[in-house]
Amino acid sequence: MRTPTAALRWIALLTALCAAIAAPAQEPSLSDRVAAIERSSISEPPHDSARLINALLAEHPELPPELAYRIDLVRARNLALAGDYAAAIDLGKSMLERAPSAPLRTRALTLLINCATNAADYPQAFGYLRQALDSTTDDSPGAAAVFSLASYLYRHVGEDGQAVDFSSRALAIARAAGDARDECMALSNLANALSAIGHAAPTEEMRHQQVAACTRANDPVFTADALKGIGQALMLRHSPKEAMSWLRQARAKFVEAGFTTGILETDITLAEAELAAGAATQDAAARVRDALPIFESQHAWDNVELAHRVLSQVAEAAGQTTEALRHLQQANLARNRLDDDAHQRRLAYLQMEFDTVAKARRISALESDRQRQQAQLEAHARTQSLQALALLGVLTLVMILLVVLWRTVMQRKRYRHAAETDGLTGLYNHQSTLARGQALLLHCRRGGLPFTAIVADIDHFKRINDQFGHAAGDAVLRALGTLLSAAFPQPHVIGRSGGEEFTILLDVDTATARALVERLRARITPLTVLDQPVEYSLSFGLSAARDAKASLEDTLRAADLALYRAKRGGRNQVVDASSGPAAQRTGAGLVVVGTGIQLGRHLSARCLSEIQEAECVFALTDGATRAMLVELRPDLIDLCRYYAPGKDRRQTYREMVAAIMPSVVAGKRVCAVFYGHPGVFADVPHAIIAKTRAAGIPARMEPGISAEACLYADLGIDPGRHGVQSLEATQFLQERRRIDPRSLLVLWQVALVGDVSCTRFHAEPAELQALVTRLLEDYPADHEVILYEAARLPVEQFRAERLPLKDLPGARYEEFTTLVVPPLRAAPQANGSATVDEVDSGTPA
Ligand code: GH3
Ligand code: MG
Ligand code: MG
Repeated sequence: MRTPTAALRWIALLTALCAAIAAPAQEPSLSDRVAAIERSSISEPPHDSARLINALLAEHPELPPELAYRIDLVRARNLALAGDYAAAIDLGKSMLERAPSAPLRTRALTLLINCATNAADYPQAFGYLRQALDSTTDDSPGAAAVFSLASYLYRHVGEDGQAVDFSSRALAIARAAGDARDECMALSNLANALSAIGHAAPTEEMRHQQVAACTRANDPVFTADALKGIGQALMLRHSPKEAMSWLRQARAKFVEAGFTTGILETDITLAEAELAAGAATQDAAARVRDALPIFESQHAWDNVELAHRVLSQVAEAAGQTTEALRHLQQANLARNRLDDDAHQRRLAYLQMEFDTVAKARRISALESDRQRQQAQLEAHARTQSLQALALLGVLTLVMILLVVLWRTVMQRKRYRHAAETDGLTGLYNHQSTLARGQALLLHCRRGGLPFTAIVADIDHFKRINDQFGHAAGDAVLRALGTLLSAAFPQPHVIGRSGGEEFTILLDVDTATARALVERLRARITPLTVLDQPVEYSLSFGLSAARDAKASLEDTLRAADLALYRAKRGGRNQVVDASSGPAAQRTGAGLVVVGTGIQLGRHLSARCLSEIQEAECVFALTDGATRAMLVELRPDLIDLCRYYAPGKDRRQTYREMVAAIMPSVVAGKRVCAVFYGHPGVFADVPHAIIAKTRAAGIPARMEPGISAEACLYADLGIDPGRHGVQSLEATQFLQERRRIDPRSLLVLWQVALVGDVSCTRFHAEPAELQALVTRLLEDYPADHEVILYEAARLPVEQFRAERLPLKDLPGARYEEFTTLVVPPLRAAPQANGSATVDEVDSGTPA
């Protein structure tokens, strides 16, 4: 298979560059001149176009970029034509970077491909070809030329299939564009490619089409080339005579075009055909001999091989066997060189392809790496955003918790405030006042500071309510809340301890406290409620903590008593517990009062007042009475605590006396309260009065309603009628007291009869029987007696159980049951008055 000569390759290059001549003009006159230079570069020797270029640049050193580029293309081509491929390639390379348009860049690339191919640098040639193909589509200007060149290059490295494909594409583009020159080129390449793969008939057909297209393109060289191709195809079909005819036409065309290489090539083929036709002439042999050194100098080994074969046949025909053999050897040598060249080209191509594939693999590997990294980055970014989201969630949660916490704390504060304060005045409530007062007292003790308690109470507040209404009362309370808070310096504790009562606790002495109170009083002005002036005043009691041990309760009690004095003293005044008129001091001493038998009904006003005014109150009463007294005096000291089961009552009484006396001796005003009448069946009252008087301290007893008084009332007995013998039951029995049965006999504590140990609280039937036996000495066994118990509560009935004397041991007894023995019936009186029985047995209940 023969390869095209280098000369034809140059023709291909020139053809490709011709496309530029049709490029649109940017500046008419200059553009025309550049086009002329381009044309000259095709038709004239290189120095002609070089001269024209110099002339143009002398006139226009600064050409517009596109024109300058086209001039550079001509210069590069001239360098290549002069055989300086390296310089041509350098210039072409530098032009790639500054191509003013895609088509011009493609032209630079085609120039580089041709130069590299010509310099047998296939890797470089394919490199540029790939760049050109990458930037070329079927629509791109110059696409047909690029594809034709691709076909040429691929065929050149033995890729005939690809060569057919590219030239077919080039042909289609050229035909669609109606470009005869491109069509001529494409057909030439297609025919060469088809020929290379041994398709003789299609090759011949393409050659015929090439003849037509190249003739239309007015290209004598490629027309001649096509004619020669037809001849060669006919040779393959063993029609040497017909081939000779086409080859002669081809030769004539080459001669017409003045294309020497074409002439020489055709001469060799023609000589081959003449030989095959048996018409070889010495002329033909001489022409081949002449051509041989030229082809050898061109390294056109295909032509060299063909020439030697022709010469071998000529020598053989002339019987010059040695000469024929020599030429045959030369032909084989040329063939080897040709094969060697083809082998080298293919190797270079394959190496380049391998590199390209390897590069592609590397690129693909790098791409996968990049994608993996990208994926990693994305995963990382996702993780980060998830983390950020999680962090945001946690922060939000923390914020919500903080808000909830804050709200809870605030709510708790509000609840605490509500629980500690009084809604109307905004002052502390009673419990809170005591708790905070305790803390303030402790603080004062630790700091060695004075401590004063003030108790204030609105005067006749009931009247304010009654006169102006409850709302006005409330307004007064509210106003006082504000006034009190403003009047006393911190640290202070101000509370509303009851309805219209206030407690103020301060770390100042009484003098300062008094001054502060006076300042407050000065600020109290009438309040206008519903256009009415509401006047009000307060009474104050104040007391300093007596000593370092004084409790808050003691101090408050003292202040309370001072307040009481202020009220009694006429209200709207301040009383200091530690001061006061001497007259009030005379109250010091002991007063013993009785509560009477029936709760609430028997307590005299006098006794009540004593209880209220005393500094110290002791009480020995029943439970119900004690409960009532505690209401009056929460500081009351209960003496019942000294009782204990089986304990000698006398010891108990001693302890009670011992409990009361120190307060009396300390000069306090002491009130001792006892159930019933304090002087009846009561050891302790008499004992303490005696002891007090013995200490030179005044002591007196205020009487109370006794059980005996109740007895006369309940049983309807008049003691003045027959006289009364009133005895303690045990005493009566033990001391064998004589009695007069005509008088009323009252035996007290009958249930405890016979108890000398003073520890028993229940009745003993044996002891009762002893009592009955004793009474039987004076009374008949069926004498009616009465077991009496006074009513202690207003809702109770007194007990008056009547029974025969003899039945007493079997009766029911309480600790306080009294035996009433009516007088024996006496003889009718001379004055006709009623019998004892009639009057003194009492009124049955
Ligand atoms: P004194 O000078 O002896 O203290 O006479 P007083 O009328 O102020 O005292 P008393 O204890 O007899 O009456 C207290 C009154 O206070 C009875 C009650 O109606 C009234 N009070 C208690 N709390 C409130 C309250 O919150 N608002 C109003 N408007 N009145 C109240
Ligand atoms: Mg009041
Ligand atoms: Mg009050």
